[in-house]
Amino acid sequence: MGERREKEPRIDFPPLVNGVDYLVSAVEHFDGNPTERNLKYAVLHLQAGVEVLLKSRLIIDDWKLVFSKIENADRESYRRGDFKSCTIADAVARLSRIGIDIPDDTREAITYLSRQRNRLQHFGLTDTSAAIEARAAEVLNFMLDFIREHLQPVVGEAEADHLADQMDVVRSRLHHIQSLVTARMRALAPELSRALWQTLHCPHCGQWSLVVDAEDATCLFCRAKQDRRELPLDYVAVVLNYGYRAFRKGEPYANICPECGEEALVNDVRVAAAPDAPQSFCFGCAEAFSDVDECTGCGLPFRSFTEEETLCRNCWDDIIARE
Ligand SMILES: [Zn+2]
Ligand SMILES: [Zn+2]
Ligand SMILES: [Zn+2]
Repeated sequence: MGERREKEPRIDFPPLVNGVDYLVSAVEHFDGNPTERNLKYAVLHLQAGVEVLLKSRLIIDDWKLVFSKIENADRESYRRGDFKSCTIADAVARLSRIGIDIPDDTREAITYLSRQRNRLQHFGLTDTSAAIEARAAEVLNFMLDFIREHLQPVVGEAEADHLADQMDVVRSRLHHIQSLVTARMRALAPELSRALWQTLHCPHCGQWSLVVDAEDATCLFCRAKQDRRELPLDYVAVVLNYGYRAFRKGEPYANICPECGEEALVNDVRVAAAPDAPQSFCFGCAEAFSDVDECTGCGLPFRSFTEEETLCRNCWDDIIARE
């Protein structure tokens, strides 16, 4: 058990026990070679556990924070449990406002699991077990730290002990899931090192294993079906965190590529060759550009070979033709 912060008040909070129980159930469902049914319950319980635990931390800060509309929060409906609760995405944003930041990869994995949960109800499981396990491992790792740092120190002795015991169960089984992910990535390393400028973070499994070339896009890790036309949208919505809702009315999510002319150019894409330097990446011709600017004449992306260039070739040709 970690050290306790002595100054903070201790409270009894039964939902924590419930939330942790969901996490334990989730890892149990991942055991061995999980069947599709086990994976389904693993996703549902993991999602439920994360939701209960993140919201518990908000409630400990201020019960109003779990209302969908904070301004409508009312003590009586809270006591009866009769109110519209905030979404998981809201909970993540509100936690950050009270000083608890959730890393990008974890936030992405939580969003991914929420989508899988929603899809389960209509289509059954749509992703591979490798993708689900990799995302679950990311989330569970984070939850262990979150519970230790942000929940255990503020609950009563008995509850803190219970949390510690249950976390030991989760930790031992997580170790197994994690080692599957690591072993699989290690086995793929030689193949993945061949095209580092075309290897991206996969919107399904979250690993650096999505290889995009001019003909095909395949994630070597999860083998999730990548729809070539949908891939730029998946990348923008999931990896760049814009969500799908932003594009529901047909707003463009990709630009016109200055090389191949396809509407498949996405900014801020990271490639394995230079993970810290965002590129403009075309999902059509599979090229990464670091020299693309928006033309001040027509607004289309163009390749500027010097700092001073502000106009694309077409706009220059127009000016010259007019003279
Ligand atoms: Zn993948
Ligand atoms: Zn292109
Ligand atoms: Zn132009």
